[in-house]
Amino acid sequence: NLKMYFPVTRGIIFQKTVGNIQAVDDVSFGIARGQTLGLVGESGSGKTTIGRSIIRLYKPTAGQVFFDGQDMVQMDADTLWKIRKKVQMIFQDPFASLNPRFTIGSLVSEPMHIYHMGSRQEIRARTEELLSLVGLRPEYIDRYPHEFSGGQRQRIAVARALAVNPELIIADEPVSALDVSVRAQVLNLLQNLQGRFNLTYLFISHDLSVVRHVADRVAVMYLGRIVELADRDELYIAPKHPYTRALLSAVPIPDPLIEKKRQRIILTGDLPSPMKMPTGCRFHTRCPMAQNICREVEPAFEAKEGHEHYAACHFSDQVESPIAKA
Ligand code: SF4
Repeated sequence: NLKMYFPVTRGIIFQKTVGNIQAVDDVSFGIARGQTLGLVGESGSGKTTIGRSIIRLYKPTAGQVFFDGQDMVQMDADTLWKIRKKVQMIFQDPFASLNPRFTIGSLVSEPMHIYHMGSRQEIRARTEELLSLVGLRPEYIDRYPHEFSGGQRQRIAVARALAVNPELIIADEPVSALDVSVRAQVLNLLQNLQGRFNLTYLFISHDLSVVRHVADRVAVMYLGRIVELADRDELYIAPKHPYTRALLSAVPIPDPLIEKKRQRIILTGDLPSPMKMPTGCRFHTRCPMAQNICREVEPAFEAKEGHEHYAACHFSDQVESPIAKA
């Protein structure tokens, strides 16, 4: 039941709160150890805020975040400091997330120094090891971020995240800023590392085709809420929410025979303001299947047919896959 509201204020000297941006509104999900949950949605849906709330870059307005049975929201600063070693984040833009004034050796080793993980020599040796682990030559250790390509910088960011032996990695759009040609390499690297170190990922992306490549389960977000949550294959084959259906219809299919039959669903209108949520179902202002009840009654997020498949839609049994007839 995680909530993250940001107050909106007016005035410079006498600030007055005029409302709240409901970035994340009553969201619940779990991730099993060693698995990947893909969190998907368009910009402004709240997915990045969830990632940042988990790692406590933001303090949630309400709700709980359990890691190994401990609530990270209520933890004192010392316990949180220890737990944060186990939960690391990889950011979207490898050009912005690495400080250009430091060598990649300093950037990768910094978390190990913070957590006192050995002598200078031991940390340098471990840094070299981490660089080779992510496919970079250890002799690059004294170079600066600007000497590397986007894909290589994201590898450096992955090495930095791995430095403190994390268990959960929150990857926020880790390949969105990269050329298509190097995306697959970084995704494969993340998957190999997951197998090797039994890592758990929360993989945040706006791109369903990328998520399909890496996730075991997928959660779809719209306006601060999860509207559908299911095993990856089930969600792609039999979506139960019209928003998921619309997102899926935009994913190109490599097989030209199936691609020809793909039904494109174009959503009209913009995302409503998160300060003024629509009544009833939040998606009704853009939903091609909306009926009167949708404007008045909010659909429950509940289990639908299939294994652990949840959706929030009054008419989920009428939702068809955009490639169902292909
Ligand atoms: Fe569309 Fe209604 Fe379902 Fe909401 S409840 S997704 S408006 S059909």
